[in-house]
Amino acid sequence: MQENQPVQRLDIQADSRVFVDMANGDANPCLSCGACCQHFRVSMYMGEMASSPGGTVPDEMVSRVNPYIVCMKGTEAGHGRCIALRGEVGQPGIHCAIYAHRPSPCREYRVWSEEGSPNPDCQRLRAKIGLPPLPAMPD
Ligand code: SF4
Ligand code: SF4
Repeated sequence: MQENQPVQRLDIQADSRVFVDMANGDANPCLSCGACCQHFRVSMYMGEMASSPGGTVPDEMVSRVNPYIVCMKGTEAGHGRCIALRGEVGQPGIHCAIYAHRPSPCREYRVWSEEGSPNPDCQRLRAKIGLPPLPAMPD
């Protein structure tokens, strides 16, 4: 990670949604966690599929939920590992194989609030896999 680069960068979209990008470095706790990627059903509007105009998520990585909604394969019922997750959960090197193309729920999920406090869901999910709680967001 470059010096002075924030570990969590917020990016406001034209429709006012706030997307999050995590820096690729030691300060990024997700790169040794991955707990959320094996917990939630990760669903999205089918327009986010790469075959749709402006879509990014590889079609072969999603399952159909209904005529309008798809979800990441593996997460259909919740508590399942997303097909795009690579590595061992809770170990260094875990990462998303489609980070630049991941769906909006993953982009909207924040590790830290704007005030810098850790996401309580992260704390809960990390504890479940034996990881320590997150500290406040580094400066
Ligand atoms: S649970 Fe939180 S810290 Fe862990 S990978 Fe997900 S967003 Fe990152
Ligand atoms: S697409 Fe990537 S970030 Fe989203 S749940 Fe799957 S592995 Fe995690």
